[in-house]
Amino acid sequence: MAVAAENQPQEKITTTEASAVEKRRWTLNDFDIGKPLGRGKFGHVYLAREKRSNQIVALKVLFKSQLQQSQVEHQLRREVEIQSHLRHSNILRLYGYFYDQKRIYLVLEYAPKGELYKELQKCKYFSERRAATYIASLARALIYCHGKHVIHRDIKPENLLIGAQGELKIADFGWSVHTFNRRRTMCGTLDYLSPEMVESVEHDASVDIWSLGVLCYEFLYGVPPFEAKEHSDTYRRIMQVDLKFPPRPIISSTAKDLISQMLVKECSQRLPLHKVLEHPWIVQNSEPSGVYKS
Ligand code: AMP
Repeated sequence: MAVAAENQPQEKITTTEASAVEKRRWTLNDFDIGKPLGRGKFGHVYLAREKRSNQIVALKVLFKSQLQQSQVEHQLRREVEIQSHLRHSNILRLYGYFYDQKRIYLVLEYAPKGELYKELQKCKYFSERRAATYIASLARALIYCHGKHVIHRDIKPENLLIGAQGELKIADFGWSVHTFNRRRTMCGTLDYLSPEMVESVEHDASVDIWSLGVLCYEFLYGVPPFEAKEHSDTYRRIMQVDLKFPPRPIISSTAKDLISQMLVKECSQRLPLHKVLEHPWIVQNSEPSGVYKS
């Protein structure tokens, strides 16, 4: 299976940026393979060095048979097409891809500090300074994506990696979509889905503002706001915007104000991302450098 650009005009990315990725045809011989970095649903990720440039990368190896079995080739094509065109310090670079008979290889930027999800598990919850710095970085990255008509639709801790300086990197564009229209597909993990997504009604870029609100809550409290034992209860809590702030940990009222302004049922009433960046909690707490150093 070749990972080629989708032939759908409405989803085609136009970019003036010449992509070095497409000009180069790599093979496995162009890389020294190092230690395994992790395992995903469809394959493994290895540390690797591109021999010509000496550049350290992460090489994601996906098995075609597994992708075909799960019928996700289309999704992967879209992910590659979208991610390879994005250039932002808080978005993981996808330098390119190549394939052989059995496997597809994605050449990715290496994020030395690993998964944000694990950091959150380790700390239980983040300080307001750390959370605000991450939320500001994500707001900037999403403003950039939306400016290119890309909606991420699946912002959650598992899809975020940490770069060498401690900067956040959006790493997974598996559910993202390039669109000029409103969409109706149900996708993503229930906890982070907006009311219009769980109902599978039309949605637009403001679904990412909702997910950012969910993420902000989870960074500060250690659990997503609408968590419940049963899917049906999470569904109901999302639809009712059943938002409760527990007494512990103690969180500032400005943080709660920002979360409440992002988790608004009516999508047009959610705080726009540029206003998120101007919100007092972000202004007072986020690192001006955009990088959280522990
Ligand atoms: P994935 O298949 O994308 O879920 O990746 C599996 C695991 O490999 C992740 O959970 C990370 O621990 C690790 N990993 C994936 N991509 C990278 C990367 N670019 N840099 C560092 N580690 C990565």
